[in-house]
Amino acid sequence: MKEKAKPMHKSTVSIHAGNLESPIFGEVSMPIFQTSTFSFPTAEEGAARFSGEKNGYVYTRIGNPTTNALEECIATLEKGYAGMGTATGMAAVTTVFLALLQQGTHIVSTGSVYGATRMVLEKEFSRFGIKSTFVDTSDLNNIKQAILPDTRVIYIETPANPTINITDIRGAADIARKHDLLLVVDNTFASPYLQRPLELGADIVVHSLTKFINGHSDVVGGMIVAKNEKLYRKVKEVLNLFGGTMDPHQAWLVLRGVRTLPLRVEKAQENAEKLAQFLMQHPKVAWVNYPGLPDHPQHQIAQKQMDGFGTIISFGVKNGLEGGKVVLNNVKLFTLAVSLGGVESLIEHPAFMTHASVPKSEREDAGILDELIRISVGCEDYEDLRDDLDQAINKIPSGV
Ligand SMILES: *Cc1c(COP(=O)(O)O)cnc(C)c1O
Repeated sequence: MKEKAKPMHKSTVSIHAGNLESPIFGEVSMPIFQTSTFSFPTAEEGAARFSGEKNGYVYTRIGNPTTNALEECIATLEKGYAGMGTATGMAAVTTVFLALLQQGTHIVSTGSVYGATRMVLEKEFSRFGIKSTFVDTSDLNNIKQAILPDTRVIYIETPANPTINITDIRGAADIARKHDLLLVVDNTFASPYLQRPLELGADIVVHSLTKFINGHSDVVGGMIVAKNEKLYRKVKEVLNLFGGTMDPHQAWLVLRGVRTLPLRVEKAQENAEKLAQFLMQHPKVAWVNYPGLPDHPQHQIAQKQMDGFGTIISFGVKNGLEGGKVVLNNVKLFTLAVSLGGVESLIEHPAFMTHASVPKSEREDAGILDELIRISVGCEDYEDLRDDLDQAINKIPSGV
């Protein structure tokens, strides 16, 4: 990016950040540097790049100009020091755990965290003596009570998946500071367009780029953004060695997606706000979770820390589990699929699908009821989405 007199606003950053300072042929779009290795003009230059004395590319696992363009774009959006592209969102999550935790240490995490994040801590990191406690972080007291002498990291996901609970990021950051812990935030559900945890005191942000940032349900990818150089170096070393790096072609596709992030989020969010209102008034809907509704328990915190309420809604229909199946089997425009944040609207059932591996009692403690349906609202016309949900919900037999 060329030096600008003042920081640019977020739509401008989404579109311009990361492009080459001096285009090679005047190209407007960032090229794909599809190369695994980079030549050195001299032996001395090669040695200097290897030692880090001089900037310059060496090998794509460690750095690549196309990946770097995306890293710069997301880091600028997140107001962080630097970004690190990863193969998937889970590669971002696990790289951060590998960098910050060691044998005998402990992490406190949001209970209704992404299913695989919980599983990797409970089943895999536990094999290496890393302990984890899952609590409802929307109540900050639960975080304070879960902290042990060996705790090193507080890990939160907000809005959380799929309960759409909100955690007060600044409040969690204050607790982290007081106990000398690091605060890591999974910002996938909000995207940097709606929420910037580093500005609120977080140390590291992780993303599944697969969702809103790429936005077209055609790529998997992840990103880690560190607040400062020290944390960047610590995580980057682990990423380079464990090797969960992003590929340049993948980076180019995500770069193409991020250019329209603001437009997509604005449109989908407008649809989500209207759909939440519509569902609230539907006689066959029992309850609706959407942070934009004034009766959402953390509506005010969401208002304070987010630039909008997002595009994910969860709701329960009357006649719970059975009613939910009727809705899932009768939607025509909504696609029955996991994932979220794409231009097309998706519907899924966490208790059967994304969170099926979590035991029922733990699911319920985390607020993931059997009747909960999650929708990821896309960019279609509102009327078509409303009519599709309406006809599917109306197929639930009445009188129950
Ligand atoms: C999808 C997702 C992940 C994992 O990302 P992948 O790209 O599927 O590996 C992590 N956190 C959240 C909140 C997600 O939605």
